[in-house]
Amino acid sequence: MRPSILVTLAAASIATGSAASAQDTTFVAIGTGGVTGVYYPAGGAICRLVNQGRSEHGIRCGVESTGGSIFNLNALRDQELEMGIVQTDWQYHAYNGTSDFEDDAFEGLRAVFSLHPEPFTVVARADADISSFDDLEGKRVNVGNPGSGQRATMEVVMEAMGWTMDDFGVVSELQAGEQAQALCDNNIDAMVYTVGHPSGAIEEATTACDTVIVPVDNEAVAGLVGDNPYYREATIPGGMYRGTDEDVLTFGVGASFVTADFVDEETVYQVTKAVMDNLDDFRELHPALEMLVREEMVRDGISAPLHPGAERYYEEEGLLED
Ligand code: GLU
Repeated sequence: MRPSILVTLAAASIATGSAASAQDTTFVAIGTGGVTGVYYPAGGAICRLVNQGRSEHGIRCGVESTGGSIFNLNALRDQELEMGIVQTDWQYHAYNGTSDFEDDAFEGLRAVFSLHPEPFTVVARADADISSFDDLEGKRVNVGNPGSGQRATMEVVMEAMGWTMDDFGVVSELQAGEQAQALCDNNIDAMVYTVGHPSGAIEEATTACDTVIVPVDNEAVAGLVGDNPYYREATIPGGMYRGTDEDVLTFGVGASFVTADFVDEETVYQVTKAVMDNLDDFRELHPALEMLVREEMVRDGISAPLHPGAERYYEEEGLLED
């Protein structure tokens, strides 16, 4: 049972018009995140390009809305998903057996390519008197659902600051897609989301009521960025969302597309090829994907070994020579 999966498109009935027969169909389920994040539409964009070529390769790709990065990594390890989108910090920790994966390294994790940047994004009610991350002390904060990347990364930030959950007035664990409404219903003062921009969830939180995007740039965060290869400084552009006209400084990770060693080479090759051969179309399918560059997708934010199917495609295209 996968209780946190909200939508399962992979279970759609087998198309009758396809040239590949049901017996020849290879199913690929991609684990994403909440429907108002970027993973879900990005996964949908990948599947759309893959499914366009179904009559040639026989792959039927479907996206699943999930609880996020940590959920996806665990489901991939349990072979409940064939592919997933995960934060680069958690790709690193899962493969290397560090942080939350200390007792349980995921050695079969394989990288395919990296995707968009994901700034650690804090949105607060305009009336909550919060102008920096430190002001969250004593406030009602949604720290994210267990299984989400933002919850796991939030815990890292809290530890670096010497905070525990008791430092907040009230702690909630709502799913990413539920946070904006809770904020605007005045049930929480602030929400946290590691997400690409623009995203539906942050648009909702900044248009449905008066809110501000809060900088996350204290000394503890500077230490995290300095000490760890998967964190970097990040900026949320001013003017992108209502209520925040100036650039907001925070830190961030990347989103990455991953699979596992149990998935066969040909399948991963075909999925990689479908996206990379049609990268212009892919970039147009969501504004957060607009800036993707082929060479960077193959190189940046990859800490697990490349899957041999992805490697074959990159070698053919000469993308692995520096
Ligand atoms: N970074 C979030 C997570 O790992 C998901 C963001 C999204 O859905 O776009 O849970």
